[in-house]
Amino acid sequence: MTMASVNPATGETLAEFADHTSAEVEAKLARASEMAPRWRFTPIDERAALVARVGDLLEADKERIGRMMTLEMGKPIRAAVEEAAKCARACHFYAQNGPGFVADHGVADEDHQSFVAYDPLGVVLAVMPWNFPFWQVVRFLAPALVAGNVGLLKHASNVPQCALELESLVRRAGGPEGVFQTLLVGSKTVSGIIDDVRVAAVTLTGSEGAGRSVAEAAGRNLKKAVLELGGSDPFIVMPSANLALAIETAVKARTINNGQSCIAAKRFIVHRGIAQEFLAGFAAGMRALRVGDPIDESTQLGPLATARLAGELEEQVEKSVKLGARLVCGGKRSDPNTAYFPATVLTDIPKDAPAYHDELFGPVGCVFVANDTSDAIRIANDTRFGLASSVWTTDGAEREQFVREIDAGSVFVNDMVVSDPRFPFGGVKSSGYGRELSDVGMREFTNIKTVRMRQAAGAYKGGTE
Ligand code: NAP
Repeated sequence: MTMASVNPATGETLAEFADHTSAEVEAKLARASEMAPRWRFTPIDERAALVARVGDLLEADKERIGRMMTLEMGKPIRAAVEEAAKCARACHFYAQNGPGFVADHGVADEDHQSFVAYDPLGVVLAVMPWNFPFWQVVRFLAPALVAGNVGLLKHASNVPQCALELESLVRRAGGPEGVFQTLLVGSKTVSGIIDDVRVAAVTLTGSEGAGRSVAEAAGRNLKKAVLELGGSDPFIVMPSANLALAIETAVKARTINNGQSCIAAKRFIVHRGIAQEFLAGFAAGMRALRVGDPIDESTQLGPLATARLAGELEEQVEKSVKLGARLVCGGKRSDPNTAYFPATVLTDIPKDAPAYHDELFGPVGCVFVANDTSDAIRIANDTRFGLASSVWTTDGAEREQFVREIDAGSVFVNDMVVSDPRFPFGGVKSSGYGRELSDVGMREFTNIKTVRMRQAAGAYKGGTE
């Protein structure tokens, strides 16, 4: 099998790569497992210094790396360059703070000297998606390497150039052989790799289907897994909000990365009193986006990552309209073979429509009307997902109710949801489990070890388990 790198804006095949053979996969697994004990006992300052150098390379090379992302998966070029810069910042964040996050910490304990230590787990497999082809990987790689784990990357099959570049970056930064390697393999090989005794744990960012399959393999092997899956995030707007700012942010939050972000706002839940005004302004903002080749700096909305994904999104919209949803704008591609999908707004969406209960991974905003705060929360929580949420209100009591009652991994107030290395990132329900980023994410792939050392020699006092 081969993996093709195809520019979704033009359909041009940029490069092709042969899948790794089973012998090549075996060699990489062997190298990773040989490196794991050596890397574990490499002083943490050296591990952090490697990650800092990866950050330096990302910053120095962000224009070239950004261009690679844009050509391979279609994100607007400025956003791609900013993604590379954000990766650099995350590397520096973990190089600086990571050692403290996994340092021993003492626990007050009568006649014992006690502490908690964080040992690395060993070889961690990362199965990653194409939508933020560098960020998704680096937010795993940076904390994992500083913590003393080694990484194996199985990237999405449509971004082989980014996948190979990530391995090369770590090597160029001075990473020893085996500390971070890319496997060019299809998704069918993933569960066999998880079965391998040399792999200690797995992290997946991707769809629910991939999550089920990775969780099954990890469960069968009793291995630690972190799952970052899909989302259908609510964006709630109440009458006290700054409506103009909320509308402007709603357009941005729905169309970031051409609408292909797990934390993009997907369901706009608007109080009845301002619903007409919001809908008109939101649809106008969506229609006004400059559509074009993402390599052009002025483009605001580029193609989806593949024509197949654009076709699947079109089917979800068509089915929703057939079931009674009202199409306010967009909805149909100009050509059945193109990856470009128009900015689309749906409203009056019935409960059985895909637009009500599934994730729409593209520039399609779904507008719902709520009668009051409790009704908005009811609609927001009426989903199998629970990744993030954004609420727009200046009323303190309302804000408190949203913060406490929304079932999601984060609540942003009067702001757009973004990931940030300082804060835990992840979801509940079908959005997955475990966390990435911050100190919490870094410790996911550690053995949190309790150490109790009795100080004075004396009779054992006994105790319960
Ligand atoms: P995807 O099809 O699930 O692919 C993600 C990765 O999983 C790819 O490397 C893919 O490999 C692999 N994969 C697919 N099916 C698999 C299986 N059955 N077993 C093992 N591995 C499998 O997802 P996508 O379309 O690339 O990405 C979009 C999804 O990711 C959306 O649902 C989005 O919300 C979610 N996402 C979540 C987060 C988060 O942090 N929560 C962030 C970004 C994206 P192949 O490419 O070889 O199929």
